[in-house]
Amino acid sequence: MSNRGGALYVVKCLRQEGFTALFAGGCVRDMLLGRRANDYDVATDAVPEEIIGLFRRTLKIGAKFGVVMVLRDGKQIEVATFRAEGGYADGRHPKTVKFTTAKEDALRRDFTINGMFYDPMGREVLDFVGGREDLKRRMIRTIGTAHERFGEDYLRMLRAVRFAVRLDFEIERKTWEAIRELAGKIVHISAERIAAELEGILTHPNRKRGTQLLCQSGLAIHIFSTMTDDEMIEGVEVIWRLGKRIDWPMALAGWFAAMNMKKALATAEMLKLSGMATKHLRFLLDKRGVLLDGDMSLAELKMLAATPYFWDLYDFQAAIQKARGESLAALAKIKKRVMALKGKNLCPKPLLDGNELIVLGAVPGPMVGRLGREMYVAQLAEEISTAAQAKAWVESWIKKHITDEQ
Ligand code: ATP
Ligand code: MG
Repeated sequence: MSNRGGALYVVKCLRQEGFTALFAGGCVRDMLLGRRANDYDVATDAVPEEIIGLFRRTLKIGAKFGVVMVLRDGKQIEVATFRAEGGYADGRHPKTVKFTTAKEDALRRDFTINGMFYDPMGREVLDFVGGREDLKRRMIRTIGTAHERFGEDYLRMLRAVRFAVRLDFEIERKTWEAIRELAGKIVHISAERIAAELEGILTHPNRKRGTQLLCQSGLAIHIFSTMTDDEMIEGVEVIWRLGKRIDWPMALAGWFAAMNMKKALATAEMLKLSGMATKHLRFLLDKRGVLLDGDMSLAELKMLAATPYFWDLYDFQAAIQKARGESLAALAKIKKRVMALKGKNLCPKPLLDGNELIVLGAVPGPMVGRLGREMYVAQLAEEISTAAQAKAWVESWIKKHITDEQ
């Protein structure tokens, strides 16, 4: 069953019981645009207890706010009771919610294009907010007064940018002016919510416009408060030159291309980047410039090429070179050399292990580690390729070092 099929099933069940039930929000927008929707949300006049009573498997994800998840055939369908949100205490959380009509539910939503409903049985769009007009005009406009609506939830400012980027729509003048005025308030929003929107903006193929909107609105300087103007300018230039499909650490590497490691990692931490993603980001930033040595040793090249992030590093460096108008010759050389390594084992098992090194005369302790590493480099460099060759190599190493140290 598709996501749409799951939502349709939920609508039918609610209808059979005499409730109103409609597709709501983003999926209606995407359907009217002829795009595939991410998820299908259902809105209804049934209250959470009634929804829970009607379906076999449900999760109360925000029953207090009128949201229940219906589970069916491995699909999760969010079913929300029509609601109005009364009074935002802090620009983040509604103080109270009241169950109400579809029309009032439309009015609490953020943008006109996100405020429509669709009746899948009657095949009819219910538009109380002028969403269809704005879809035609390709416009992001708040429902109601922009200033007030952003004041209720400052995250909506970033959502406006994300939808403008994703759909390549304009942001309507008053909506844009309000964002510019209120941009500084974004710091009141939790890092997780900010990061989720930023990820959508900075990984999207249209991210060049995204970074421009973030900078021009003033959102960027408040979110990335330690970044200098020059660092942002270079960030804009690098990030859009990365490939079309990139993940979040790669996007951040592009955006932080001109930042030093310490500041970049502190910013990543502020954005609650996961451990794995931080490792990925750190690798890319740490290895900036390394691939510009087209003649690096074979061992070094193999070690780099064996990492899972090698091609990201390659693309990242290429974007930096293009942004700076600098040569791609070294990168081309590296690529050719790496392609020539195809089929070779880039991280083979060491020809000898630590115990064997000791049997050959290495002094247990730090010497074993150092000898092991150097032998492995010789192995990657293809100076030695059999255990016998490795033994001879190790014996001469030990002879040299023990004599040196005596
Ligand atoms: P996406 O395709 O990214 O999921 P979406 O429009 O479905 O886009 P969601 O975040 O899934 O966005 O939210 C679903 C709907 O809930 C929105 O279309 C909008 O009507 C409403 N909504 C979501 N977040 C807010 C918010 N912060 N303020 C007001 N309405 C919101
Ligand atoms: Mg959605």
